[in-house]
Amino acid sequence: MADTFRALMIEDQDGKPKTAFRDLTIGELPDHDVLVEIAYSTLNYKDGLAITGKGRIARRLPMVAGIDIAGTVVESRSGQWKPGDRVIVNGWGLSETEWGGYSRFQRLKPEWLTRLPEGFSLKDAMAIGTAGYTAGLCVNALEDWGLMQDEGAEILVTGAAGGVGSTAISLLAAKGCRVTAATGRPETHEYLSSLGASAFVDRAELAEKGGPLQKERWAGAVDAVGSTTLANVLAQTRYGGAVAACGLAGGFDLPATVMPHILRSVALLGIDSVMAPQDKRDRAWATLAAHLDKQHLTSIARLEPMSNLPQLAADIVAGKIRGRVVIDVA
Ligand code: NDP
Repeated sequence: MADTFRALMIEDQDGKPKTAFRDLTIGELPDHDVLVEIAYSTLNYKDGLAITGKGRIARRLPMVAGIDIAGTVVESRSGQWKPGDRVIVNGWGLSETEWGGYSRFQRLKPEWLTRLPEGFSLKDAMAIGTAGYTAGLCVNALEDWGLMQDEGAEILVTGAAGGVGSTAISLLAAKGCRVTAATGRPETHEYLSSLGASAFVDRAELAEKGGPLQKERWAGAVDAVGSTTLANVLAQTRYGGAVAACGLAGGFDLPATVMPHILRSVALLGIDSVMAPQDKRDRAWATLAAHLDKQHLTSIARLEPMSNLPQLAADIVAGKIRGRVVIDVA
């Protein structure tokens, strides 16, 4: 085991969070029961907010950033895990109150770990990461609402070219839905078509304030954008439909009315990945294992070294990242 290893840390500098690469030792890690050697982490929108300081994600400093982990158990004081087990961690407060994944090693609580699903490599799991696992939660929520019983249900995905959006499109298309992608980047249309989108909406159309009840267009939606976009999506959802809302890339407000809910029985399904119970996590990963096309995963994700994180973080907050970024923490 290396004596020291690099980690990306958020530190307090004169009352403000500042990011820096630091050398850590195993002895400096938190005293949790399972020591994991991390192979890969990822870049999510939330990581972008944490690293750039655009969002107050880290609530305790110093903090090792990174909300995702894929790696191998090295030591365990828990009967649940043994050395050699391959595991993933998504959320559970990593990079907020608990040290996270931008590090070669991390000590973690046993209950945060999920066994690497059969059929995925550690790199595949991080090509999916929190964004993809959240797409799995969204798709399962829409399915539980009964939206996928009809072949060809029309589902809208907003923030389409991002990590949640790209993965949601692939999953929904695999489940037989007709998927419309709302994107602000026409240059991604070919990529989104290759994942299974069959129609497009310019995201600017959804960003303008619309009426409380609009023409019924969608059986359901996965929304990664929030704000006016989500209000319009709700107003365009058909009678009895549902919108799985997971994101705020366009804003955290919701300038909506109750009309779609009380006149069309439209449901707003809130999706949280951070504290989702283990059974929901297992189901989301099972959906990904069963329905996510491996070739899509290759085209969705790219690998980057940890040293590029500061620039990548600025890019994801600016909406410039396509798909997913896997981070090599070596
Ligand atoms: P990405 O940055 O990869 O994707 C977000 C996408 O949203 C962008 O690619 C862009 O899509 C679109 N977008 C960006 N800025 C704006 C804007 N100002 N107005 C409208 N659309 C915009 O992020 P992720 O996929 O990782 O995450 C998406 C959202 O989901 C984030 O808000 C994130 O915080 C949230 N999230 C929530 C989780 C939860 O537990 N609830 C878990 C994971 C993510 P395009 O270029 O196609 O228009």
